Amino acid sequence: MADLKLLEREMRGWRRDLHAHPEFGFEEKRTSAFVVAKLSEFGLDVAEGVGGTGVVGTLRSGNSHRAIALRADMDALRIPEQGALEYRSQNPGVMHACGHDGHTTMLLGAAKLLTEDGGFDGTVRFIFQPAEEWGKGALAMLDDGLMERFPFEEIYGLHNMPGLPVGHFETRAGAIMSAEDNFEIVLKGVGGHAARPHAANEVLVAACALVTNLQTIVSRRLSPADIGVVSVTELITDGTRNALPGLARILGDARSFRPEVSAEIEKQMRVIAEGTALTYNVSAEVTYTREFVPLLNEAALVEEAFAAARTLFEPDHIATAREPMTGSEDFARFLEHVPGCFVFLGNGRDSAPLHNPAYDFNDAGLIHGALFQAAIVRQRLPAG
Ligand SMILES: [Zn+2]
Ligand SMILES: [Zn+2]
Repeated sequence: MADLKLLEREMRGWRRDLHAHPEFGFEEKRTSAFVVAKLSEFGLDVAEGVGGTGVVGTLRSGNSHRAIALRADMDALRIPEQGALEYRSQNPGVMHACGHDGHTTMLLGAAKLLTEDGGFDGTVRFIFQPAEEWGKGALAMLDDGLMERFPFEEIYGLHNMPGLPVGHFETRAGAIMSAEDNFEIVLKGVGGHAARPHAANEVLVAACALVTNLQTIVSRRLSPADIGVVSVTELITDGTRNALPGLARILGDARSFRPEVSAEIEKQMRVIAEGTALTYNVSAEVTYTREFVPLLNEAALVEEAFAAARTLFEPDHIATAREPMTGSEDFARFLEHVPGCFVFLGNGRDSAPLHNPAYDFNDAGLIHGALFQAAIVRQRLPAG
């Protein structure tokens, strides 16, 4: 049997090493080499360079032809780290502010547990994906033939959750993370002298009206039963102190949990942009893109995840997540191919929020992620 105290100490070392050397999406060269070295040392079959910097480790045991996948993300964010951790980022302007250093470490821990102790019959794929934060890494691996080269029938993933105490476990059936769409609306008029607005056809007043009008999509166009968010995040013009702008760009982000809602947001945005532009006698051009799809957990596998969790966590530390999160997750792309389940593990009540410059993954939670992932494998690929 693996020595869990030793594994915990080792994982803490790996996590802090990864934390000190964060890499942005598709640049995870050192991280991916670190993962390859560990998986090879444990004795797995390792494929590197899958979808850029992605890594797939394969572990087989027994005769079963069944295969399941576990997935971690490896990328960091372009956020300058605050604070004075002894293992703080050595890569200026980049930090592990989403805990992917912890996720990578926990999946390595699960690989070590399963190679040392076995206890399953079948094939396990350990997927280490690049560029989760961009929403591009999972697709890059899928486009590189992930499903054909390393087939599997179901997949599990996890994310740490600030605010949830360490040792607590949550998930839910159906929608758990949202779709993310991005939009850009360009208004064009005629710039001119600030003292002579009647002689120009400036766009800033139109842009302000449009920002306000966009607020009616969620409040007046979507059903109150549907969750939707439309956030304008930037308003940029070519105006200056004494010159009215002739061009304005309005950028933002929309979230939803059903494709029909995403389609409705886009449709209403186009109607409102055109109508507002007409009112102010300027032109509007809308670009609307879909970056992340909604993450939908398979109900039967959620039950399996809860059953695995019950072997590890206190009964009153396991809960059904009350509502879906309006954050987005690249893991959803794998679920367009096979069913799966995504779960949340506590990062502590006092944890800084995700994507905060003071965030740090809580090492006390490492062993839970490793044990949970090993448990789900043994449960879904039972030995003997
Ligand atoms: Zn993130
Ligand atoms: Zn994340």
